[in-house]
Amino acid sequence: MEVMTEVMAKAINGKEVALRVRGELKAECERLKDEKALTPGLAVVLVGEDHASRVYVRNKTRACEEVGISSFQHILSGEVKQEKLLELVSGLNARDDVHGILVQLPLPGHINAGSVLEAISPEKDVDGFHPFNVGRLVSGSPLFEPCTPRGIMELLDSAAIEISGKDAVVVGRSNIVGKPMAFMLLHRHATVTICHSRTTDLPAKVNSADIVVAAVGRAEFIKGEWIREGAVVVDVGMNRTPEGRLVGDVEFEGASKRASYITTVPGGVGPMTVAMLLKNTVEAAKRSCA
Ligand code: NDP
Repeated sequence: MEVMTEVMAKAINGKEVALRVRGELKAECERLKDEKALTPGLAVVLVGEDHASRVYVRNKTRACEEVGISSFQHILSGEVKQEKLLELVSGLNARDDVHGILVQLPLPGHINAGSVLEAISPEKDVDGFHPFNVGRLVSGSPLFEPCTPRGIMELLDSAAIEISGKDAVVVGRSNIVGKPMAFMLLHRHATVTICHSRTTDLPAKVNSADIVVAAVGRAEFIKGEWIREGAVVVDVGMNRTPEGRLVGDVEFEGASKRASYITTVPGGVGPMTVAMLLKNTVEAAKRSCA
């Protein structure tokens, strides 16, 4: 008689890894204070009333306080003129107690987000979105790596997942997740395919992957049966179902029966994004006095 075995993937626990990173950063902040009288500082700029953005900013501020980073919140009206915002950024660029500057996206439509991101000093661009930092990343000598893909690399490393020589498929080509993710995997010697809304036969592309990173923004869009047996699955998506449940871009139940490792939503990539923002800020502070 044939015995059916159902192999469940090991969950990569982002909460746990993020806690460890935050603990290390806390110790590092204490050391910087004692030895160099240096307190890393992060300025967070929020424009408008977007509820999700407010929650993100609150979480980032709280996380800063927990590890010993000073946080400076600047909340501006949704009608603020672009020149005012640029003036604020320029003032933050000049401050010695601010080592990282984050402008929460999205910005209201009347503001040119590109101009604002370019106004941030590249040495304080802890999100890694300035064209200078994008260029550094693409050329393989990053100064700041964007937080979400950096967090994903840490998650893969925490589970000792081999990247070199593997076939990686990144679904999504946004500037904040998909594209930097692809380059970071490439620099670690994966063979990378980037998929997007015009990709033909996505199931076959996903099925060819040893490592799948899903950053689509559509609830349970990547089906469990697309996943190759033994693949590693990283789910970046954060989607609310009509019932209010938070789900990823991957159909977790089906995928976890085929994958060797999988991240959960919540508790996977999300906590790592914040942890990497803190890490980028502490690194910026250290560079400022190097
Ligand atoms: P974007 O909307 O900027 O990008 C989505 C990408 O998915 C685009 O490149 C788009 O392709 C692609 N796409 C859309 N539909 C399809 C399709 N049918 N087939 C293949 N590809 C498709 O999203 P983000 O990159 O900003 O975010 C992705 C998800 O990750 C979201 O759920 C977001 O909430 C989440 N997120 C989570 C973070 C975390 O910390 N956990 C941080 C950042 C994001 P095209 O370019 O052709 O339009």
